[in-house]
Amino acid sequence: MSELVIDLEAEKKEILKRYRTLLKACKPTMKKGDKQMIRNAFDMALESHQDMRRKSGEPYIYHPIAVAQIAAQEIGLGTTSIVCALLHDVVEDTDISLEDIEHVFGKKVATIIDGLTKISGVFDYDSSLQAENFRKMLLTLADDVRVILIKLADRLHNMRTMDFMPRDKQLKISSETIYLYAPLAHRLGLYTMKSELEDLSMKYMEPETYKYIAQQLNEKKTERENFIRDFIGPINEILEEQGLKADLYGRPKSIHSIWNKMRKKNIPFDEVYDLFAIRIILNSKPENEKSDCWKAYSIVTDLYHPNPDRLRDWISSPKANGYESLHTTVMGPRGQWVEVQIRTKRMNEIAEKGFAAHWKYKEPSADSGLDLWIQKVREMLSNPEANALDFLDDFKMNLFSDEIFIFTPKGALIQLPIEATALDFAFEIHTDIGTSCIGAKVNHKLVPLSYKLQNGDQVEIITSSKQSPKEDWLSFVVTAKAKSKIKSALKEEKRKIAEDGKEILERKLRSLKITYNSDNLHKLAYYFKLHTTLDLLYNVAKGLIDVKQLKEFVASEKTIENKPEKTESTFDPLLKKVKGNDSDTLLIGEDLQKIDYKLSTCCNPIPGDDVFGFVTVGDGIKIHRTNCPNAAKLMSNYGYRVVKAKWNSQKELAFLTGLKIHGIDEVGLINNLTTVISSDFKVNMRSITVDSDQGIFEGSIMVFVNDTEHLDNLIAKLKQVKGVTSVTRFDSQPINLVKAS
Ligand code: MN
Repeated sequence: MSELVIDLEAEKKEILKRYRTLLKACKPTMKKGDKQMIRNAFDMALESHQDMRRKSGEPYIYHPIAVAQIAAQEIGLGTTSIVCALLHDVVEDTDISLEDIEHVFGKKVATIIDGLTKISGVFDYDSSLQAENFRKMLLTLADDVRVILIKLADRLHNMRTMDFMPRDKQLKISSETIYLYAPLAHRLGLYTMKSELEDLSMKYMEPETYKYIAQQLNEKKTERENFIRDFIGPINEILEEQGLKADLYGRPKSIHSIWNKMRKKNIPFDEVYDLFAIRIILNSKPENEKSDCWKAYSIVTDLYHPNPDRLRDWISSPKANGYESLHTTVMGPRGQWVEVQIRTKRMNEIAEKGFAAHWKYKEPSADSGLDLWIQKVREMLSNPEANALDFLDDFKMNLFSDEIFIFTPKGALIQLPIEATALDFAFEIHTDIGTSCIGAKVNHKLVPLSYKLQNGDQVEIITSSKQSPKEDWLSFVVTAKAKSKIKSALKEEKRKIAEDGKEILERKLRSLKITYNSDNLHKLAYYFKLHTTLDLLYNVAKGLIDVKQLKEFVASEKTIENKPEKTESTFDPLLKKVKGNDSDTLLIGEDLQKIDYKLSTCCNPIPGDDVFGFVTVGDGIKIHRTNCPNAAKLMSNYGYRVVKAKWNSQKELAFLTGLKIHGIDEVGLINNLTTVISSDFKVNMRSITVDSDQGIFEGSIMVFVNDTEHLDNLIAKLKQVKGVTSVTRFDSQPINLVKAS
């Protein structure tokens, strides 16, 4: 830090350079006066962030400029969005208020920035518990989809610049991205952004695999390019002959999608045949778009034989997110299937930028077009049939749910059942706020405690130290929490009366030569068939238990044994135990810590795997691999239950893991495999199951190994067995998240 030398002049120049690049990207949608607006926003952002720096040491202003650049260039948004992108962190992080912004830029900009500020608090490192809420909230926020789009741009830039973050934060942010933002981008038709978000997440969550695939892709680059040139050459010729103008190129598939294929089909990289798709982008007149695409289709399929099962016509019926294209898979010259995507320039732009690109072609006026688009997205988000299209399964929204989402004055999100009142909200925040609540302000207007809240309300609670809970509150609150807290507060009253009972009982017991202690109080309560010692003292104070009855108790005392059992149903003690140690990290294999952990059976981690601990309800800590299919969901929904975990270096223990073996069913294959495992490697096998079908062998073997190195050696050795074509460690089964174990 002390040695950091910053050339402020050079930085200033760089900031201006980036600003000018941004302006260039904004040009296509700019109208009169827009340039000045953007300039004003830039000046305000520059001024208010001036002393701030990013983790990388760069000036903070680079971030909002980059977010605006993404909004303009990669999503195609207009001036209002650019202004909002430039100012998106200003209200959150600086002294500038929403009122200041409304004053300079008007109501619309202020509303969008308000939305961005409200949702930004939700994804604090510790509050990822709310990821579920956030996801639903996005839908109710669809009032202005620009909030979501700018948020996506913000996330994309953060993902692109995450190298300076600590590892645990990288993992957390990446899992949110894969769980939440990438499906969202997909849903909005932002395919390019979706792929990049997925690849960036993978880069942090699966660094080894990511590097491996990237390297493989790179090695085969020349070979691939030659193939593509040979493949598109003849198509190009005929297109030209027929007077169709088009760009043809090969588009590599994303690393993440290749990896998905490898996992889904359980095949090595070499067997993924569709590493790229061929794109034919036609430069057509609007009236010829459809016929030109079919002409191109005809040319392609005259040259290469198509697979009839793989024709997709999204031109006649576009996807709900706006995607239009013609897809076919044809047999290439070297006997491999090649996917060909045919579409026009306009369709291509929509495919890459989503609907934002749409209005550019339809409407001359940018704003009305954008409104149209926003309306379209809103329809799309609220269409319950939408999942009939190709939306991700885990992204099903329940728009008709019984929940509402309420903001605190600081922008945190609180989920409440429908019909919830201001008082329910107060109790949800904190019991003390609930019990001392005398009124509330909803969207800055004063309302009574029984006021029924609406989705998106911002609520401020007014309290007074003189307030105490009232019996009639129970008649309008709806949450279980508020009800139980009110009841227990009313009980407090009883407790005060019981205080008097304590003195009386103490005196009486003394005269009977019985010690006043909690043990005896419990015995007494039990004897008088009362649930609690509080009830006992209350009854004594009220004169319902007299000395005569106490004497009877003394006589029967010997037979009474009553110790209330203590139950611990929460996981707090476990969390505390791990988080309380010096390193904050659970050392696996360390028995000194005496912390109850188990290796999860969904992904069977072994030493050497990148792992984390997850605190379960009643079953200790479960260790999962960070690439466990359940990991992203666990981390993004139950972040507060995740603990760092690390393998303690030791070799004596054996861990269970599973291998999938494919091959040709040679005589003695199983024998040869088990010999390698048990005799050569001295590894214990727990089970082996084999399927053999027409000479094709498929086996699953559960073995005990020490660590990943040990496993890798075993895999290498097994691959050398004659007849074996592949050996892979198997992935796990997704677990049922409802139980969150
Ligand atoms: Mn930001």
